[in-house]
Amino acid sequence: MFNTLRKQLTLLYTITTGIILTVVIGTIFISFQREAAANNLETFQNNLYAIETKLQTDSLIKYVWLAEYENNNNLLIHIEDNGKPIDYEGYGYQSGLRNDLVELVKERAMEDGINSSMPPITSNKVMSDIYKIKWNNKNYLGAVDLIKEKKGYRSVILLQYFPMEFSRIRSRMVIFIMYGLGVVALYVVSWKFVGKSLKPVEENRKRQTEFIAAASHELKAPLAVLQTSASALKYGDNQAIFIKNIENECVRMSNLIEDMLLLASTDAKNWSLHQCIIDADTLVLETYERMEALCREQGYRLVVDLPTKPLPKMEGDKERLTQVLSILINNSLAYANAKERKEIRLRAYEKRNYIYIQVIDYGIGIKEEIKANIFERFYRGDEARNEKSHFGLGLSIAKEIIELHGGIIKCEDTEENGSTFTIKLKRFI
Ligand code: ADP
Repeated sequence: MFNTLRKQLTLLYTITTGIILTVVIGTIFISFQREAAANNLETFQNNLYAIETKLQTDSLIKYVWLAEYENNNNLLIHIEDNGKPIDYEGYGYQSGLRNDLVELVKERAMEDGINSSMPPITSNKVMSDIYKIKWNNKNYLGAVDLIKEKKGYRSVILLQYFPMEFSRIRSRMVIFIMYGLGVVALYVVSWKFVGKSLKPVEENRKRQTEFIAAASHELKAPLAVLQTSASALKYGDNQAIFIKNIENECVRMSNLIEDMLLLASTDAKNWSLHQCIIDADTLVLETYERMEALCREQGYRLVVDLPTKPLPKMEGDKERLTQVLSILINNSLAYANAKERKEIRLRAYEKRNYIYIQVIDYGIGIKEEIKANIFERFYRGDEARNEKSHFGLGLSIAKEIIELHGGIIKCEDTEENGSTFTIKLKRFI
């Protein structure tokens, strides 16, 4: 599913970006072509004008000038006096090719009604259109120019070779190769990019699936008890026991569902904190008041350890932070070691702009190898597996709440035996 989606998105990215690139490159290419064509036309016109002027100003046609001009500008200049070619042989074109090209331009002009072997009738000067001539895969521009003179007329047939076609083929090939490489590079980059962006989505989906599987598994047990107790109620004696069982399971299920809803809403990011400015000392003392009786009931002393100087204020949701401390104290009671100190310490102190709140116990402690897992949802240590009231959600809820506060929660060993959970929160400045 991940790979299919990744492939589809990669293709989508590549195709869309490819189309955009093609349009952009195509537009640039076309505008370059147009610009080049316009430039060529202008150059041709200038050359024709320069030759015309030269012929008009000089009484004698200088062949050396013509040869040089032809050579420097890729030109073919063919001049006829009263329909007869002058005996200039031209420069750089074999005479066969030269004649062919001249004939081609003459033919094109003739099609437009301009005969280079006839004097201009209506005016002193007649010029044909500028024709695009293709000959042996080469591109030329050509035109016929007829000028009336004292003793008749003179025809100038001008062709100019633009070495465009070859370079165009070559540049087209380069463009195609570059384009192909670009599309491949685009695919690779998109593949990496899509993979990276889908990773958190995939992880989230995996987490959700695991969460649903674990939650359904946890809900099955109390439901089974409810079912058997209900049917036992119909037939059996000892109804009070079954009613008690049903009550207990209902409490268990409602606790579990409450925890699951809380985690689901943090996942959906629609769980908001009721932030206010709170006293760390008050938070600790109120937690003490809430939990002391329970600890005492179980034979434990809850000890508060606060610095003599009042702690700075901090921003947070008091109700939720007390819930975290209650989870930690409940765990300390649940994972106690009967042989050790019957004490749980609730300690708070300030260090470098941070407030640290610790729940220190002297219980069974947490093995190094499971320390990394205890904050995962539905994770339970061996000792908790058979405990009906432990679903393995307490620490994951605590972690979510602390992280929503921008804080950190971590677990270490208590110096003697047991575990120390430390919450680190930023002080309010
Ligand atoms: P639960 O307590 O419901 O199993 P938690 O998420 O609160 O779930 O804790 C996860 C696991 O971490 C527990 O199953 C237990 O193995 C371990 N644990 C948590 N707190 C303590 C503690 N104070 N001492 C020893 N083990 C603990």
